[in-house]
Amino acid sequence: MEQKTIAIIGGGPTGLSAAEVLSESGHAVFIYDAMPTFARKFLLAGKSGLNITHSEDYDQFASRFGGANSRLRAALDAFTPTDIRAWAAGLGTETFIGSSGRVFPNVMKASPLLRAWLARLEARDVTFFTRHRWIGFAEGGHAFETPDGRKTVSCDATMLALGGASYPRLGSDAGWVSLLSERGTTIAPFQPANCGFDVAWSDLFRDRFAGEPLKSVMATSRAGTFPGEFVISRHGIEGSLIYAHAAALRDDLLQHGEARLAIDLSPGRTLERLSRDLVRQDAKSSFSNRLRKGAGIDGVKAALLRELMSQADRNDPNKLAAAIKSLPIPLLRPRPIAEAISSAGGIAFSQINETYMLKHLPGTFAAGEMLDWEAPTGGYLLTACFATGRAAAKGIDDWLSRK
Ligand SMILES: Cc1cc2nc3c(=O)[nH]c(=O)nc-3n(C[C@H](O)[C@H](O)[C@H](O)COP(=O)(O)OP(=O)(O)OC[C@H]3O[C@@H](n4cnc5c(N)ncnc54)[C@H](O)[C@@H]3O)c2cc1C
Repeated sequence: MEQKTIAIIGGGPTGLSAAEVLSESGHAVFIYDAMPTFARKFLLAGKSGLNITHSEDYDQFASRFGGANSRLRAALDAFTPTDIRAWAAGLGTETFIGSSGRVFPNVMKASPLLRAWLARLEARDVTFFTRHRWIGFAEGGHAFETPDGRKTVSCDATMLALGGASYPRLGSDAGWVSLLSERGTTIAPFQPANCGFDVAWSDLFRDRFAGEPLKSVMATSRAGTFPGEFVISRHGIEGSLIYAHAAALRDDLLQHGEARLAIDLSPGRTLERLSRDLVRQDAKSSFSNRLRKGAGIDGVKAALLRELMSQADRNDPNKLAAAIKSLPIPLLRPRPIAEAISSAGGIAFSQINETYMLKHLPGTFAAGEMLDWEAPTGGYLLTACFATGRAAAKGIDDWLSRK
């Protein structure tokens, strides 16, 4: 087949996955990124332990993408969590399954994997351009803002892999939204996903407990009941347990103007046992003593009860027991999208066909976090980026060969 020229715009995990498939097919691949280096978000993800995919039952895995499950399934089937582990091993990064089923590189970091990945692409003659900000479509190709001024390039097909709207300082600033919407593509508004929430803490509680973790608790929202831990922040609440509930809480805030996350501070004890043990405490002893002796609770957990309960309710052993088992934390709003792990919103699935080509822009494909799907943390985000990047690349390959 005649060699075709492909512009991949956006050099995160999605764009690099597409480059891998397209360079393997023998196309001339050019990747452009606005930042001075590639895949900055991927590298940052590795700072706290790169959770590259998940080992749970595959059908369960493929159901983590909410309303986008059915649209993502074919791409996920073609690049499964097992394939990801084999692919990483092929780049010299062996992985292990953590106690939660999450999969991490043995070294936990992203940098060795990224280095090997870029080197392999370079060896396949993929050409990289950094500091090239895409500023829109030009005759037969694209216009970029570069340190040497405006530059236009032509190509036979385009892959857009520009990311979502979280952590804009790492490059994905959603500046592309107007460039596509002015060409008739519908973009669902971006919202924070896997984010913390603001809570109206008292000054006293904030100053004393910001940064403190609440360990071994259960949290309940419309999303379900999950065990885990979270952190009291200066603004409110943060951490993996909060992220698991974030989509449901965010949507409740949007639809009803209020949301509460119910915390079980003592999952190991029943309500009956707590009531019985608290009733036995001397009503004259302090709240801290009654709580410590009757429920084994102290520190930040005790402070949270004090913060969120009236004094009268704290003095009622049955109400106190009920609050220990289900303490509602009233939330004000999600933290800003710039702080969120990921974003919801983006190019609506109605705007792309099964091969990830934009319906209004033949020859232009899009994948990764710039599409309108969301998933919890747990390796689902990267898996869907790898998988859709590869699926869109296959779409490009097929489209070019048909052309
Ligand atoms: C702190 C943190 C930790 C995370 N940890 C994990 C984890 O452990 N596991 C997991 O599965 N996911 C994790 N994620 C999410 C994951 O990193 C993202 O879902 C993933 O990087 C998205 O890939 P992408 O290629 O679609 O977009 P991005 O990685 O955002 O890449 C988009 C690229 O496009 C470039 N770009 C944007 N606009 C332009 C333009 N106009 N012109 C040129 N280039 C442009 C950007 O510079 C960027 O390089 C984490 C995210 C964060 C912020």
